[in-house]
Amino acid sequence: MLIEEEIQQKAYALGIEKLGIIKPEAMLDYADRLQERMERIPNGEVIYGGFTRFADVKKNIPWAKSIIVAVFHYGHYIIPKEIGDRYGKSYLVDSRFNQDSPERQMLIAFEDYLHDLGIKTASNEHPGITAMRWAAYKAGLGIIRRNNFLYTEKGSWIGITAWAADKEMELIEKPSLVECSVNCNKCIKACPTKSLSSPYTMNMVTCVSRLSTSNDMVSYDDETNKQMGGWIYGCNVCQEVCPMNKNKWEHKDVFPGLADIQQFLSPVQIINLSYEEIENYLTPKFFYIKKESLWRWKLNAINMMVNEYKEEYMAPIQHALEDKYEIVREMARRALEKISML
Ligand code: SF4
Ligand code: SF4
Repeated sequence: MLIEEEIQQKAYALGIEKLGIIKPEAMLDYADRLQERMERIPNGEVIYGGFTRFADVKKNIPWAKSIIVAVFHYGHYIIPKEIGDRYGKSYLVDSRFNQDSPERQMLIAFEDYLHDLGIKTASNEHPGITAMRWAAYKAGLGIIRRNNFLYTEKGSWIGITAWAADKEMELIEKPSLVECSVNCNKCIKACPTKSLSSPYTMNMVTCVSRLSTSNDMVSYDDETNKQMGGWIYGCNVCQEVCPMNKNKWEHKDVFPGLADIQQFLSPVQIINLSYEEIENYLTPKFFYIKKESLWRWKLNAINMMVNEYKEEYMAPIQHALEDKYEIVREMARRALEKISML
């Protein structure tokens, strides 16, 4: 048996859904795809220019002779609706930096196996050694749909990781998935901010996932705030509406630690938490909002409460008038003005 096949068999025995191996050079055309994307959206160079470093893996890891790409399914965890409608699901069950998660354990065991084979590897949990979706696509592990997500037979609720390896190997799979129907534009129509403006064209700057995790000390205009609706951290809309994801999420397993922090995830709780508590309870899991920018949590919570206003939200919004950050106090003042006009 070829070493590539042995590695794949071990990966599948450990629970990895798909595994392929590409040459580092296979990623070079990612720069072209990025260029196309940059040309399609305003300010594209500024937004996506930094990603070009992912195309030339050998530039960053000169000894890399192959890239091993693994796809794992995370869409099997129990996520209560009240938090699944407010938080990006991938963040709720994020295995990166979570040593207790079964997916992290699985990937560590796989990496140990590679090392036992004498293969040197390089990887990192975030941001990764290359562009993960494109690497998985090039390895034939799935297809990229019009909402820009990589899909396998299990839908788009999947994580991708990759290792640079010092051994020359190649194993390309052949996905057996049908492309998006030319008549389908459900994801584009449903995108609340129109960030996904046409097939494969997404403006990262206006995506709710980005807006709700931004570390820039800015609050957004009224229209953007309204478009963000009830989202507090991330957004699932373009994946939820996709027919290719229909019935693909299996609510069956408990994600380690999720129940422990669930009590802190409501907008009222976020307002009531001190910044120290936010850092202790939320930052380890939701690390895109940095420690220096924890006020973003309060802005997002206030915004959600305005967009889905209920009587019980009045007290926490008033409480935010006393926040230590002016940007939060200002958001609370704007919120009370809007509520008074309801
Ligand atoms: S994650 Fe939400 S805001 Fe971002 S492109 Fe998808 S639907 Fe639009
Ligand atoms: S919603 Fe339709 S167009 Fe969008 S990714 Fe899914 S199948 Fe493709």
